[in-house]
Amino acid sequence: MPGYDLHDYDVVVVGAGGAGLRAAIEAAEQGARTAIVCKSLLGKAHTVMAEGGIAAALANVDPDDNWRVHFRDTMRGGKLMNNWRMAMIHAQEAPERVLELERWGALFDRTPDGRILQRPFGGHRYSRLAHVGDRTGLEMIRTLQQKAVSLGIDVFMETTVTRILSDGRRVAGCLGYRRESGDLIVWRAKAVVLATGGVGKCYKVTSNSWEYTGDGQSLAYWAGAELMDMEFVQFHPTGMVWPPSVAGVLVTEGVRGDGGILLNNKGERFMFNYIPDYFRAETAESIAEADRWYTDKRNNRRPPELLPRDVVARAINSEIKAGRGSPHGGVFLDIASRLPREEIIRRLPSMYHQFLKLADVDITREPMEVGPTMHYIMGGVKVDPDTAATCVPGLYAAGEVAAGLHGANRLGGNSLSDLLVFGRRAGLAAAQYAGSLATIVSPSGDEIEAAAAEMYEPFQRADGENPFALQKELQQTMQDLVGIIRTEEELKEALHRIQDLKERARRVSVPGNQLYNPGWHLAMDLKNLLTVAEAITISALERKESRGAHTRDDYPNEDPEQARFNIVVRRDSDGQPLLVKEPRPELPDEVKKILQEA
Ligand code: FAD
Repeated sequence: MPGYDLHDYDVVVVGAGGAGLRAAIEAAEQGARTAIVCKSLLGKAHTVMAEGGIAAALANVDPDDNWRVHFRDTMRGGKLMNNWRMAMIHAQEAPERVLELERWGALFDRTPDGRILQRPFGGHRYSRLAHVGDRTGLEMIRTLQQKAVSLGIDVFMETTVTRILSDGRRVAGCLGYRRESGDLIVWRAKAVVLATGGVGKCYKVTSNSWEYTGDGQSLAYWAGAELMDMEFVQFHPTGMVWPPSVAGVLVTEGVRGDGGILLNNKGERFMFNYIPDYFRAETAESIAEADRWYTDKRNNRRPPELLPRDVVARAINSEIKAGRGSPHGGVFLDIASRLPREEIIRRLPSMYHQFLKLADVDITREPMEVGPTMHYIMGGVKVDPDTAATCVPGLYAAGEVAAGLHGANRLGGNSLSDLLVFGRRAGLAAAQYAGSLATIVSPSGDEIEAAAAEMYEPFQRADGENPFALQKELQQTMQDLVGIIRTEEELKEALHRIQDLKERARRVSVPGNQLYNPGWHLAMDLKNLLTVAEAITISALERKESRGAHTRDDYPNEDPEQARFNIVVRRDSDGQPLLVKEPRPELPDEVKKILQEA
């Protein structure tokens, strides 16, 4: 076995997106010796790609907004599958986290009287998303990164963590490798915070980038933590569909928030045909009423284009299936006829450039072609709502990797605020936990050796399976059989194929050596991709109803009985996934009262 570098910290944060940076800042401010490890360059995380904004009830545009309405919107959007305590903490603390970001130097767009401007977004009752044009994530990361660097936090860039280490009872650190050299690193740490983001690369069409291979979910699972709500995978209604090389790239909901409308190939504004009863009272039912909302938001019902993402994605899917789609298999999103050219370029500069450069489409003159794209996973690592602690002592998870806040469907903008609120809480709890341990915990040498041997195995085999081919097969399987609309038959077929892929992944081989070797990197990521794909599929099979982002063709309705439990997946003693239906606690009366408020 090759040697490894050894580093000691109180807290190691895996991931440098919004959640990881905010966790690391808090841990360092608590006095913990803190390091951040990230798979790519610092600043190159999903968070930097975020476009629309951060949801927080600042009430700058709509004075009636407050945390209770934000909490209610989040719970309704999540079809009440949310962990109510997380949703409440999130709604209460988001405004302070945004203001804190501003104190640290973030420059948001302004209202005429100089306050942070907020834009409307799907599922939010009021204009609530603090933003910087359509480049909010960039400003957020710039600010957090600057703060983290100023605190002297150590950063290990282009370094991938492959294993959480333990002393048999609790976390003792983690193991990883430098992507460039392939050299191993062991971090001995009292606490580890997972902030590794999503799982998009299980799917063929996704808005997610190459890094999102479900690493944190899988690391937690193999360390003995639990995964929850994995069946709830969000398909964003509007991704690019053409040209094929950019299929899935996100088209921000901000386009619809700023007036964009969805049309089928007959020129019909079809969303009026898909308003669920649940949202009828607050949704405009005529074009005139919908359009009035853009000028007079307070007294009118919202346009149906701003219904929650699951509703809009299913509607687009139905239009395409019914033959009313656009030439390249999407529908049309029109902002050109809705706003003056200069206004579109001012409000949506990234979208303007994205379409011009990637698709040769000028969105100020012609409509975009868009279709659903796998975007986000609501499920993830099960955590304590107050501390972000998992059931493994010393292991924490925050951001997209964690479950609970968003229930069956996330509202746009609620992820960035999630990262700030629960990133901070995870960093705080991890630092406090580390402070409570007298000495550094030592990982077992045998465990390090076994994990390292597993990492190098693909070099030992000749003529084994090709990791790229296996990933492609997995992506096609998830896309075709575990997508927006699911059936028992297809899910069973997917599970069968995943099990076969798991078997074949044990025989994967890679040529060359450990110096920057993408085939080898993917061979290691495959274990994570397959772990999360299996967890999503078995959870989707178990939930026999349609709720939020999980739609079963064979069980098309919501079933109150099924809403009584969360689906939790943990590893059994043979390393196989064990599925448990965990009863959900009754909502306290105080919470029920808020949910009933008009
Ligand atoms: P990320 O920002 O995804 O960061 C994950 C980090 O973990 C990265 O640094 C990565 O390198 C690292 N990592 C992963 N695996 C490993 C490993 N094994 N070892 C070491 N490091 C690892 N949400 C909103 O609320 N508002 C929006 O406007 C919005 N727009 C979006 C637009 C796009 C195009 C996309 C893709 C998403 C958008 N979202 C938005 C969702 C939101 O951006 C993400 O959910 C959120 O940024 C996730 O943040 P995170 O901190 O959990 O993880």
